[in-house]
Amino acid sequence: MNNTPALLPTYDDVVAAAKRLQGVAHRTPVLSSRTMDEQLGARLFFKCENLQRIGAFKFRGAYNALAQFTPEQRKGGALAFSSGNHAQAIAQAAQLLDMPALIVMPEDAPASKMAATRGYGAQVVTYNRFTEDREAIAQRLATERGMTLIPPYNHRDVIAGQGTAVKELLEEVPDLDYLFVCLGGGGLLSGSLLAANALAPNCQVIGVEPEAGNDVQQSLRAGHIVKIDTPRTIADGAQTQAPGDLTFAIIQQAVNEVLTVNDEQLVESMRFYAERMKIVVEPTGALSLAAAIHGGQSLKGKRVGIVISGGNVDLSRFASLLAD
Ligand SMILES: *Cc1c(COP(=O)(O)O)cnc(C)c1O
Repeated sequence: MNNTPALLPTYDDVVAAAKRLQGVAHRTPVLSSRTMDEQLGARLFFKCENLQRIGAFKFRGAYNALAQFTPEQRKGGALAFSSGNHAQAIAQAAQLLDMPALIVMPEDAPASKMAATRGYGAQVVTYNRFTEDREAIAQRLATERGMTLIPPYNHRDVIAGQGTAVKELLEEVPDLDYLFVCLGGGGLLSGSLLAANALAPNCQVIGVEPEAGNDVQQSLRAGHIVKIDTPRTIADGAQTQAPGDLTFAIIQQAVNEVLTVNDEQLVESMRFYAERMKIVVEPTGALSLAAAIHGGQSLKGKRVGIVISGGNVDLSRFASLLAD
């Protein structure tokens, strides 16, 4: 591979992350559904990270990163800018590791998300999305307070931590033919690729992003990172404008395919999860199943892994999405 960025994580890093997470992260269940097996003529195995701590896989990467802080870094604490699951993951991991956490959030972020983040003991600093630059604010605060900024996906320890979910899945269900993984900035997918290449080299790994925000698909076609405008999609965990250099390097080298699905297909999958499997899945978490249904792969007779990435959605929003 040309221009390999320094510090790309490897499967050894995923194994080390799994040790750090043992007894801290939930070993989430792997569910099945006869209804969906019959519909697709396949056997599906759903890795339920919607049942992970904080309701999404992001706890894995956040904890793996913070657990490796030096004593000096621990004293300063962790800083993140996010209004979503990464914020709650950093807050929860910092609380467990007994260090301060500061989260920079837009002032119009949902009150429930701010409350949840504060509930884990983090300090929340708000900014105006339209007039202020969150990265500049975060950098200034990090310097002023001696805090360490942890990005949501483009970070070696974050990627390695996210890979532990698929490591668990493949240890439980070793002979998968296909694996569908939700894709935003690519932390989950690149970690999953490290695990799948080591444990199931013949498994076809497919990343799935929203049709309106296919920055990774475009980047793969171009052969370099392509940045798009913030996409309009209900999949708020995948509204990224571009993959990172680390995540893109791994994806480019190892992914079999990246597919897209539209919002209607996400709602269809969310409804299926709620009605048939009795689980709440957020729009972004439904990307993987939507692509297994609509992606055009022939899954007949195949064993298929589906990573459900998260379940954090306001119930009123959930109800209105499903009511349409
Ligand atoms: C962050 C997130 C994603 C996307 O993960 P990346 O590592 O950015 O690709 C998918 N689903 C949920 C629920 C998330 O919180």
